[in-house]
Amino acid sequence: ATPLSVMVATGKGARAGILIRSAEALETAHKLDTVVLDKTGTVTAGKPELTDVHTADGFTADGLLALVAGAEADSEHPLAGAIVAAARGRGLTPASATAFDSVTGLGVRATVDGRPVLVGTARLLGDTGIDTAQLTTVAEEFAAQGKTAVLAAVEGRPAGVLAVADTVKQDSAAAIGALRRLGIDTVIITGDNARTAKAVAAQVGVERVLAEVLPRHKADEIRRLQREGRVVGMVGDGINDAPALAAADVGLAIGTGTDVAIEAADITLISGSLSGVATAVRLSRATMRNIR
Ligand code: ADP
Ligand code: MG
Repeated sequence: ATPLSVMVATGKGARAGILIRSAEALETAHKLDTVVLDKTGTVTAGKPELTDVHTADGFTADGLLALVAGAEADSEHPLAGAIVAAARGRGLTPASATAFDSVTGLGVRATVDGRPVLVGTARLLGDTGIDTAQLTTVAEEFAAQGKTAVLAAVEGRPAGVLAVADTVKQDSAAAIGALRRLGIDTVIITGDNARTAKAVAAQVGVERVLAEVLPRHKADEIRRLQREGRVVGMVGDGINDAPALAAADVGLAIGTGTDVAIEAADITLISGSLSGVATAVRLSRATMRNIR
């Protein structure tokens, strides 16, 4: 594209809240045939709330919530924030924790009130030899509702399951519909479990889901799609998304996301609305049409 047409398109984008960092990004966006969307904070609002507490024998809901909130108190994960806020909302004080340890993409480990507590995925608990059969049955029911199930074990024994729900953004389905009409396939990528991810995908009309992807493997999934011959856009907001944004042909950061994601991206959607992805593609198509 000519420098002038790039300037015009960049200006139009800026007025629509779409910051295009380079001429190259503008020139590549029209070739995108696949857009990968991070689930939490991108398709969903990223403001999870605790909805259910299921307890195993020997625990009360408040007792378990105080322990789990204690284990999560030092975690920066949005799920942790939801659990700690819910505990405080019920007038509980998170139990005091020592030896806090965060296991990226899986959960947390801590000693709470002198008791070892493990909070996170079935895989995290299973890896330490805890029998999660009963908890996963409950967890699957929550997941089918699109909720994230957080499993807890205390002193090596299953203690309960907390359900956390994150509502999809009001305009996500429309934005994904707009991409489909442009002939672009959409894929949701997440560290969350497959059942939860599929329930969310169904709500917004996304057919393909890449679930239980550890943060460090998100970029590998982008490269795998590229090896299939696809030209891939990636939309994300979190620190963990930065390598995938950089690996994509066009990385798009949600403007309400982390600085790390914005720095790794080629395009920033200032308003935080996913509809900016289709707008960016249309701008690119118009610009590239003009020069031919
Ligand atoms: P996402 O891709 O949705 O941002 P993450 O990679 O951050 O997800 O985490 C993947 C999964 O690991 C979460 O869905 C959750 O089940 C579990 N997990 C991670 N951190 C925590 C935590 N602090 N407390 C409970 N569960 C956690
Ligand atoms: Mg995330």
